Amino acid sequence: MRRDCERCQREVEAAYDDPRLRKWVKGYFFLGLPFLPAIPIIGSDFVVMLPLLMIYVVGFGPAIGFIKEPPKCQECGAAVAHQAAVAPSGLV
Ligand SMILES: [Zn+2]
Repeated sequence: MRRDCERCQREVEAAYDDPRLRKWVKGYFFLGLPFLPAIPIIGSDFVVMLPLLMIYVVGFGPAIGFIKEPPKCQECGAAVAHQAAVAPSGLV
């Protein structure tokens, strides 16, 4: 992906640290979806399922942190913006 690097002061090739792991981490948020109908059962099992649910929810923090990590410039290693800046169209 092409991004504007502030340190290089031009458009450079940018990449995430681990693109494949990033894809897996995105899947982590949907891991709990099939279990949503079983919430009453999970909530009543204080020994196994509720602690497992808590561990799963605690994992959201690091997962969100990993997703929010910005891509890095391939030439200088500086963090660049997630989204490419939208160029003003004919207004300037
Ligand atoms: Zn750079």
